[in-house]
Amino acid sequence: MRQKIVAGNWKMNTFVREGLRLTEELIKLKYPSGVKLIIAPPYTHLFPIQSIVEGTLIELAAQNLAKENQGAFTGEISADILKDMGIKYSIIGHSERRMYYGENDAILFSKVEQALKNNLAPIFCIGESLDERENNEHFKIINHQLQNTIFKLSRDQFKQIIIAYEPVWAIGTGKTASPEQAQEIHAYIRTQIAEQFDNQIADGTSILYGGSCKPSNAKELFSMNDIDGGLIGGAALNSEDFIAIANSF
Ligand code: PEP
Repeated sequence: MRQKIVAGNWKMNTFVREGLRLTEELIKLKYPSGVKLIIAPPYTHLFPIQSIVEGTLIELAAQNLAKENQGAFTGEISADILKDMGIKYSIIGHSERRMYYGENDAILFSKVEQALKNNLAPIFCIGESLDERENNEHFKIINHQLQNTIFKLSRDQFKQIIIAYEPVWAIGTGKTASPEQAQEIHAYIRTQIAEQFDNQIADGTSILYGGSCKPSNAKELFSMNDIDGGLIGGAALNSEDFIAIANSF
């Protein structure tokens, strides 16, 4: 059975004390034990939050990491540093990183390699823009994003990957892909994985949906065959909404 995952990307939101409060609220709320709950606060919050989630089922992700492992790279945080802090996951390739920080496929592949070398599981984001969807190029774009990055990994490396399909037009816009639109792409991604690797790997890969996922639409999305959970932005900043999403399977 594929792992069901609900991951919260807090982006550049909350002060440390608010992040701690939000995490304390999450710890108290109930959700199914079969769902893995991951939160990705800003870097500055990871250490204090790590100390309060220890012994709970909540796990931490970084929102990004450096493509280098150590050294004179002012302002960067490496997979090595994150591993040392006990962090288990990192989001890589979020569309905001691709758009605002020029992260192309080559950079993203280096980041994936760094993560894997340090036992961090990448939550690797892919997705098309509005223009690309309107020009009916979404399958081609998804295929390129996969081929140029995580499809270069070995079978064993690929087993660590979690994929997040996030149509750029649905992120933070309030527009959600319909369950059928999301399912169509998730099924396509799974078919591509089977062709690149094999059915066993494809069946075992968790593919999350991201893009204005909230309590009111999560159930319908998660009922789709190839949607294994969500990468949640805005709704992850409210403990009750986030847990309501985790209760939507
Ligand atoms: C995201 O940024 O990964 C995201 C899915 O954001 P939102 O849920 O706010 O659309």
